[in-house]
Amino acid sequence: MHYFNFKKNNLYCEDMKVEDLAKQYGTPLFIYSSRTILEHFLKLEQAFKEINPLICYSVKANSNLSFLKLLTSQGSGLDIVSGGELYRAKKVKCPGNRIVYASVGKTDIEIEEALKYGILMFNVESVPELKRINTIAKRLNKQAAVALRVNPDVAPKTHKYITTGKKENKFGIDMDTVKDIFQKSKKYSNLNLIGIHIHIGSQIIESKPFVEAIQKIKILIEDFKKQGVGLEYLNIGGGLGITYDNETPQTAIEFADKVLPLLKQISLKVILEPGRFIAGNAGILVSKVTYIKDTPQKNFVIVDAAMNDFARPSLYSAYHKIVAIKNNKKKRKDGKKADIVGAICESGDFLGKDRELDVKEKDYIAVFGAGAYGFSMSSNYNSRPRAAEILVKDKKIFLIRKRETYHDLIKEEIII
Ligand SMILES: *Cc1c(COP(=O)(O)O)cnc(C)c1O
Repeated sequence: MHYFNFKKNNLYCEDMKVEDLAKQYGTPLFIYSSRTILEHFLKLEQAFKEINPLICYSVKANSNLSFLKLLTSQGSGLDIVSGGELYRAKKVKCPGNRIVYASVGKTDIEIEEALKYGILMFNVESVPELKRINTIAKRLNKQAAVALRVNPDVAPKTHKYITTGKKENKFGIDMDTVKDIFQKSKKYSNLNLIGIHIHIGSQIIESKPFVEAIQKIKILIEDFKKQGVGLEYLNIGGGLGITYDNETPQTAIEFADKVLPLLKQISLKVILEPGRFIAGNAGILVSKVTYIKDTPQKNFVIVDAAMNDFARPSLYSAYHKIVAIKNNKKKRKDGKKADIVGAICESGDFLGKDRELDVKEKDYIAVFGAGAYGFSMSSNYNSRPRAAEILVKDKKIFLIRKRETYHDLIKEEIII
């Protein structure tokens, strides 16, 4: 679901014509629909209303401050994975008691900053990290709230780079070690072990792996209850898939229908960490055609966006729908397919391959599903200034990140 639709052969974001936005702000340009962002958040909130969970939007999916502000002012918490993301959370004044912090490599400084801000809890991924947080909390004379991230060893059938809940992944702690930690919890004088966390992967389009993981965790939690371990929270992570091509992912309601019965039996306060589900289809990347390079084999549509702006196709071979924003005729007369590529000196630099797309120089194209893991993964590779970002609210447009300049590229560098 999203608010990017064609009206009379022109692509619109909510009530704004994308072509006008591209002309006004230049390309490459990320355009986000606030209505889409908020509706996704509300859908999840509604679906889980019965148990009133804390929804912590996963900052790494799209970390723009205005994007975060939009969600936190709606009551969302934040799921962070670095000190930089904590800094962003502070900038939008997200209350500490709505922040959860996961990462396999939290540094001492990051732990200290999070403790000082008073986050709700750390999602801890290893025994050495547990020890470290305890030591730092002791030094600061604080109690650190902790959930153990359990690796439930389930296969979510998604890309191997975004599978996180299998034994061989670097994430989380195996069940036996988790049990052991709780048995020795007295060792950790400055920790409150209050929760269990799972996050099994990303772009998961069916409920089964989630159910399987929660069932495994349920057994663990029931064991703990028998032993008198006082847990308060169960964090079931993020990972809900979206439609990029013709996938039919579970809806929020379908997901809730499957997992709510289990969650009610477990009866702990539930935390959700959606990223892609909220942001993915709430954004497009608009780019202008620089050249059409016709070769005997193929038609290369060379555009002004590239893998530095949008890495997902190169990194995960991810499919993203690509359209012409005006008169989107698909088939070329000669029937030749197009590769939509950037200007970067890498053969892996493409946005789409073997597409039916009939465009000419100076036309604009839009890459759909670019709201999550789009700008937040972008870089300056090939010394390309990063794109601008705008947020549309009905008929209003907000520039939420200026296009970088050449000066931005070099401003921290020192010529010796
Ligand atoms: C990335 C991440 C998420 C969000 O994943 P999505 O697939 O975008 O929903 C949630 N929790 C943790 C711990 C993450 O690392």
